Amino acid sequence: PGPIESDLEIARGVTLRPIEAVAGDLGLDPTDIAPHGEGVAKLTTEAVRSATEGDADGTVVLVTGMTPTPKGEGKTVTTVGLGQALAELGERPAIAIREPSLGPVFGIKGGAAGGGYSQVLPMESINLHFTGDIHAVTAAHDFLAAALDNHVHHGNELDVDVRRVTWPRALDVNDRALRETVVGLGGPTGSVPRENEFVITAASELMAVVGLAADLEDLQERIGRIVLAYDTDGDPVTPADLGVTGAVTALLRDALRPNLVQTNEGVPAFVHGGPFANIAHGTNTLVADRVGASLADFLVTEAGFGADLGAEKFAHVLARQGIVPDVGVVVASVRAVKRHGLEMWPTDFDALDDPDPEAVRVGAANLRHHVGIVESFGIPAVVAINVFPDDDEADLAALEDAIAETSVPVARSTVFQEGGSGGTDLARHVLTAAEADREFELLYDLDAPIREKIMTVAREVYGADGVEFVDGAGDDIDRAADHGYDDLPLCLSKTPYSLSDDASATGVPTDWTLTVREVTPSAGAGFLVVKTADVMTMPGLPSEPAAEDVTVDADGNVTGLF
Ligand code: ADP
Ligand code: MG
Repeated sequence: PGPIESDLEIARGVTLRPIEAVAGDLGLDPTDIAPHGEGVAKLTTEAVRSATEGDADGTVVLVTGMTPTPKGEGKTVTTVGLGQALAELGERPAIAIREPSLGPVFGIKGGAAGGGYSQVLPMESINLHFTGDIHAVTAAHDFLAAALDNHVHHGNELDVDVRRVTWPRALDVNDRALRETVVGLGGPTGSVPRENEFVITAASELMAVVGLAADLEDLQERIGRIVLAYDTDGDPVTPADLGVTGAVTALLRDALRPNLVQTNEGVPAFVHGGPFANIAHGTNTLVADRVGASLADFLVTEAGFGADLGAEKFAHVLARQGIVPDVGVVVASVRAVKRHGLEMWPTDFDALDDPDPEAVRVGAANLRHHVGIVESFGIPAVVAINVFPDDDEADLAALEDAIAETSVPVARSTVFQEGGSGGTDLARHVLTAAEADREFELLYDLDAPIREKIMTVAREVYGADGVEFVDGAGDDIDRAADHGYDDLPLCLSKTPYSLSDDASATGVPTDWTLTVREVTPSAGAGFLVVKTADVMTMPGLPSEPAAEDVTVDADGNVTGLF
C-alpha cells in the first residue's frame, strides 16, 4: 500500500504522547527534562551527566548507506523505521539523528526528519527553529568573528595577519551572494577591511565542536583550541588567545543538551547537532549517542552520505570517543543501485524509473563495496533495501539476489509506507547480527604520519591506487605537523556521489588516484580536514526552491514542508 498522504498529513494524524511519557521509556523522570513546547524537551545537564557516567552498554546500530543520489536513499527513514520495528519486536530502542539545516529544508532536498510512516515529530518544529541549537551556534560563531575583528580594530596586540583569517562568518540560510564578501568597509570606525566568507551554520566548526564535545568542560577546551587566524609569524590565533572561550561556551551551554522528541509511533528520538558530512563528521552529537546507548537497549544512529564518508568517520572519530557500532545497516535503493549500473551523471531520475534488472545487478557492486567498508572495521553488516512505492518487483528481486550471493543478510524495508511493521525482517537480522562477535578495529593509528593516514583511507576505503598532493596540500600537511596537529584523526571531504573523487565515476572505480588539494586543522573539533575539491560551504537556492511551497494559515498551520 503506497501512502497517498503527504508527510505533513501523516504527521498531523498522529496524537503525540506526552514527552514525559517518552522520557519515561528511557527511565527518565519528568524532572530530568525541560519541555520546549509540545512534544519537545531538552535533557537537563544533570540527567545527561548521570546517564553518561554509567556504561553506555546498549547495542549501537549505525545506519549508513551505499553511494547515494542527490535525493538521498533513505538512511533517516530507515533509522526511524528500524527503531520502530525494534519496538514492535518488544525491544527498548531509541534513535538519534541530526537537526535539519534550513539549507536543504528550503532548498532542494527538503526536511530531514524522515518521511512517510517513519518520521520524527513534531516535524514543523524540528525543521524550523526547533530548540534554537542551530541559532545558538550561529550566534556563537559570529561572536567569535566579531571578537577577532574587534581585537584587530583595537590595536591588534596578537599581530593577527588579516590576510590569513580562516574563521568565516555563518548564517543558516542558503545565500550564495555571501560566499565571498569584504567586511570592514566603514572607514576608521568600521574595523579593518578584509575579505571574509560566509558558511552555512552546519559547516561551522562550532557545530562539529558541539557534536564531539563529551561534556561542558570538554566543550570549553575544544572552543579554546579553534584556529581562527594566523599571526604574522604564521602561528595560530585562538579564542583562548582572545579571552572569549568562556563567553562562547556560555552561548552554547544549552545547545549541548540533547533534544528529545518521538517518532510517529512514539519511540524516543534524539534529534541533536547538525554538522556537515564532508568538512565535518556528519552525525548527531556524541552526547546524544552516549545518552541513548546508556538509557536504551538499542541505539539506532545515522551517519551522513555513504559508508565511505559516514561510516569511516564514525569509526575513526566517534568510536575513538567511545561509541563503537555493534551492527552496521547499509541502506540501498533500487534507484541508486541502478544509477551505478547505468553510469549516469548527473543523475537522470526519469531514466531510473524504467525497470532494468541488469543495471541493478551491475550496480550492486557499489553496494557490496560499502558493505565491505563496514566489515573492514570488524562491524557485522546488514543490508536494508529501502523500498520506494514505485519500485519494480523485478528490480527488487535482482537487488536481493545480488546481495544473497554474499553472506550478508539482506531485508526489504517498507517502513516509509508501513511504519515499524515494515521493518521487522530488517530488525530481526539486526538482532541476530548484534549477537555476533564483533572485533572492532581501526584502519589507522593516530600517531601515523598524516600522509600515511590519508593513503590508508584512500586505498582501503575508497579503493584508490594512490594519493596525489597538489595546490600546496603538502605544505599544509607540514605546517599542521609543525603546529602539533599531526596526531589528529582525519575528516576527508570528498564527493558523496562516487567512491572516487570524481562524481561522475559510478560503480566501483578502479585505476584512479585521490587528489588532495588542501589540508586544514579543525583543532576544536579535533580532526584534520582533508579537501579533495572545492567544498561548497554556502549552498545556493535552486531555481525553484522548496521554500516556494511553504505557507502558513490563520491558525498557524504550516504546509509545504516535507
Ligand atoms: P538520507 O537520510 O539517506 O539522506 P532520507 O531518509 O532523508 O535519506 O530520504 C530522502 C528523501 O526520500 C526524504 O524526503 C524521504 O522522505 C524520501 N524517502 C525515503 N525513503 C522513501 C521511500 N521508501 N519511499 C518514498 N520516499 C522515501
Ligand atoms: Mg539523513
